[in-house]
Amino acid sequence: MENSQSPSFLFLADHPVLDFLNTVAMVEGQRTDFLQTDGQVLEWLEQAGFPCSPDGESPHSTLKDAARNLRETARGLIAQRKAGETLTTESMNRLLAGTSSHLQLVATPEGGIVLRREFQGEVAARILAPLAESIAEFIATADFQLVRHCEGEGCILWFYDRTKSHRRRWCSMNVCGNRHKVSAYRTRRAANPE
Ligand SMILES: [Zn+2]
Repeated sequence: MENSQSPSFLFLADHPVLDFLNTVAMVEGQRTDFLQTDGQVLEWLEQAGFPCSPDGESPHSTLKDAARNLRETARGLIAQRKAGETLTTESMNRLLAGTSSHLQLVATPEGGIVLRREFQGEVAARILAPLAESIAEFIATADFQLVRHCEGEGCILWFYDRTKSHRRRWCSMNVCGNRHKVSAYRTRRAANPE
């Protein structure tokens, strides 16, 4: 069931780590944070492919703040990496050190067996741990030539350019790409009126 309270998150970056940064976006000229509640954080994680183990610990009173903190830490590092600057890794490393994990063999009701990674630590840190690890891996291993900021005016979205030609310029052709086409057309028209 669609929850009418939930915003529709943007999944256009072609990488979940950059989609996570894009939970802050410009909406009608306003900087808008799509992670307003703990429930929205859980929903984003689910949609992005980081489902939390359903162990029923509900009061994640600090989850939203922890998620925003992780996101802005990631944003800083990704911007530094993109700019070729020296990375300030302390905050990220502190977040990564907030949990530890081990593998467990878990029997399924169908009689099968699956391998599951269990995290220990404070609830919010545990819920965010798989995402935090993905962020760290991304920063260490992504091809930053392909990590780009949308060229749209005022747009703050990031994407990973997986196109064959590696010439992607826009978060979305429908939004910024189209706006650019229209404004280029207007400029041409103004320069060459009929
Ligand atoms: Zn854009």
